[in-house]
Amino acid sequence: MTAVGVLALQGAFLEHARALQACGCRPVEVRKPEQLDDCRALIIPGGESTAIGKLMDEFGLFESVRRFGAGGRPIFGTCAGMVLLAREIEGSEQPRLGLMDIAVKRNAFGRQVDSFEADVLVPVLGEKPVRGVFIRAPYVTAVGRGVETLAVFDGKVVLVGQDKFLAGAFHPELTTDTRLHQYFLRFLD
Ligand code: GLN
Repeated sequence: MTAVGVLALQGAFLEHARALQACGCRPVEVRKPEQLDDCRALIIPGGESTAIGKLMDEFGLFESVRRFGAGGRPIFGTCAGMVLLAREIEGSEQPRLGLMDIAVKRNAFGRQVDSFEADVLVPVLGEKPVRGVFIRAPYVTAVGRGVETLAVFDGKVVLVGQDKFLAGAFHPELTTDTRLHQYFLRFLD
């Protein structure tokens, strides 16, 4: 079974592990750099990007995850994971991986609509929309050359791909629809 890492420092890592199992993979909880050695891809879950970043720093994971990605291994970031993958975070100097040429805005949908669910059309997954669970979600405010916009919701870019990196503003792991995980796992081929 293909081993796929889930960064397990904080946030919704168990739900991603469950989704990976449903896709026929073996999830590996990653808390130390050497645990990446077994993994053919990595998911960075939602949670709190500042907290995850602080723990990544403490556990020496920034450099190792950067190397993992730069070496051509696929990485999927959801919500806080998207923030951590971004090159630029509006109004914030917080630590990040900077592997994707995107700018993001945190907690970007506003306080009144802190958390919500909505159908999001993701053309690469077909005509049936995914149920997007947005929890204090970021969105993408700028994309560089080489970044593909994969979904737009309410005029905001909420899913992007670049090489073997994928970043989404919402939480596919909180639904039973595994199409987005499966789409990501195709990067392994
Ligand atoms: N607002 C969080 C952050 O910026 C992300 C929220 C989430 O992952 N659900 O880190």
